[in-house]
Amino acid sequence: MTLPRRRVPARQPAPARFRSQAVPREWRADVDHVLISSRRLAWRIRQLSTEITRDFAGRDLMVVSLLNGTVLFLADLIRHLSLPLRLDFIGVSSYGTGTVAGELVFTKALRLDVKGRDVLLVDDILDTGRTMTRVLEVVRKLGPRRVRTCVLLDKPSRRIEPVQADYVGFTIPDLFVVGYGLDYAERFRNLPFVGVLKPERYASS
Ligand code: 5GP
Ligand code: MG
Repeated sequence: MTLPRRRVPARQPAPARFRSQAVPREWRADVDHVLISSRRLAWRIRQLSTEITRDFAGRDLMVVSLLNGTVLFLADLIRHLSLPLRLDFIGVSSYGTGTVAGELVFTKALRLDVKGRDVLLVDDILDTGRTMTRVLEVVRKLGPRRVRTCVLLDKPSRRIEPVQADYVGFTIPDLFVVGYGLDYAERFRNLPFVGVLKPERYASS
């Protein structure tokens, strides 16, 4: 006779407000505090992958990711998507200075054909919504079957355009964040966590 297996409840990290993570020693000179630790990132992205896998089951998925801020997020997201998919990139850059966004410039067009396909558009952060709105216009003109959007971070308090993402990793307050793909003056993309720089770093980089 086989005994029924005991169900072990999944262990989940405590909500952020109950835990704070110290800034890793090597980043202490630049980073004021950790907003989202690498553990929380990994845990939440795993959940997003599970949702997306379920929602796109049986579809011909085309992941379209915006360069350059999505690199780390994208790699972690798609490695857990148990779906056949194609991957392509759109290059878009807002040539602003420091923490202020400027004019939006397309630096790389899609190479693969999205016509009739299910597209998942991936970006690092939804802020004013200008980038997502412009990119959605461009992608929709190419005739996909449907487009869904996925962002790691959402700053709804800064929204100018009426756009929302279908999948959101974390909703954050109005702070300029770096790390896990996000830069300040092209630096700090390689931090394994999302953090906030020391005020003097924003002023001098
Ligand atoms: P939006 O067009 O929605 O205003 O902004 C989207 C783009 O602005 C993002 O893809 C990102 O490149 C940049 N951005 C917005 N907020 C932040 C932030 O807090 N940190 C960083 N590093 N980039 C941001
Ligand atoms: Mg970006």
